[in-house]
Amino acid sequence: MGELFDFSPKLAELDKQTMEECAPYFGEASRIADINRRKVLEAFIKNRVGAAMFGGSTGYGFGDVGRDVLDRVFADIVGAEDAVCRPHLLSGTHALTVALFGILRPGDLLVSAVGEPYDTLRTVILSNGTGSLADFKIDYAECPLKDNAVDLSKLAELSRRAKAVLVQRSKGYSMRGALGQREMREIFETIKTANSDAIILVDNCYGEFCDASEPCAYGADLIAGSLIKNAGGAVAPCGGYIAGKKELVELCAGRMTAPGTGRELGCVPNGTRELFLGLYFAPTVTEQAVCSSIYASRLFEKLGKRVFPLYGEPRNDIVTVVELDSERQLCEFCRAIQACSPVDSFAVPEPWDMPGYDCRVIMAAGAFTNGSSIELSCDAPLKMPYRVYIQGGVHLTYSRLAFLSAAKLFM
Ligand SMILES: *Cc1c(COP(=O)(O)O)cnc(C)c1O
Repeated sequence: MGELFDFSPKLAELDKQTMEECAPYFGEASRIADINRRKVLEAFIKNRVGAAMFGGSTGYGFGDVGRDVLDRVFADIVGAEDAVCRPHLLSGTHALTVALFGILRPGDLLVSAVGEPYDTLRTVILSNGTGSLADFKIDYAECPLKDNAVDLSKLAELSRRAKAVLVQRSKGYSMRGALGQREMREIFETIKTANSDAIILVDNCYGEFCDASEPCAYGADLIAGSLIKNAGGAVAPCGGYIAGKKELVELCAGRMTAPGTGRELGCVPNGTRELFLGLYFAPTVTEQAVCSSIYASRLFEKLGKRVFPLYGEPRNDIVTVVELDSERQLCEFCRAIQACSPVDSFAVPEPWDMPGYDCRVIMAAGAFTNGSSIELSCDAPLKMPYRVYIQGGVHLTYSRLAFLSAAKLFM
């Protein structure tokens, strides 16, 4: 033991330089995390979170106080009137699906503000005969990116007829920058000026706690995301959330369970303790993921790779993209990260035909929670340009060790 992380003097020096160069940006992440930690603690105290409410419920789950207080705590933290935050929202895709079906009706138009939405949502919106929005006669229009940014004049035009506009905060698998507060305010204002009735729904996945406020605090009507990403603090075993205007959250809650029962229904057999604990850790864990991301950008850039974003550029999500040279290098990179994971380090990732992709994908996912991407993980579609998407990391040191091991491939 010990040898695994004995790096060459050259690599150790590279690590030291990278840490020094990243320090100011780590400082900014820590400043944001402090603001968020303060909000979290305030919300816990104000809503009188108590040990007696962690116990959970069975059957219908009527009157589960822990579940109901978690909703309140979550709403306060993100600056929303109301929220549902629970294991019954299965993932980000499910939370967004519930939100879309909650607010849209046949004949309505949905507009995507940032070009193509996240892969899994395409199926939700467009696929034929599977119960998609299209099957329910909900129209859809995309506002294509212009110069890799949101086309505001086109967006204004499309928003006029829109019932709802979907705004994806994170870059996802695109090469535009993740949206910051200034850009989102501009987008929201454009939409509301064109049509004050349009509902602004933000796909908030990967964005939570990367900034000092969440989009519903500055104009989004609804936000939705996953608890196995930032907002679950790497502790929540599953779940998702929808937060925003009270009447809209009510509509979504009616789709989440059944119209009429809405949020009152839904037991939490194993209790809410891990959901509260995850939320309590979320600003800190997101800070670590952001720092991991900044570090990866600088380290691999120093090793001659194209990276996105650069280490000094704004970080509005937790994803770093590194461009490698070949399919083989993508595989070797993912295997190196997997080998430095706390769980399943001995597994060797292989490319596979993942549903929803047009080519084979390889991923490293040595996580405590299945599919968690707030824990260090990466994935790469095996096609040109050879890009690996790296996200998560519950502590910078753990991530650094993995990145330095992968760096050996390029030295
Ligand atoms: C992860 C993600 C989703 C989907 O969330 P799942 O939890 O994987 O279902 C949607 N949008 C964005 C931007 C995401 O990053």
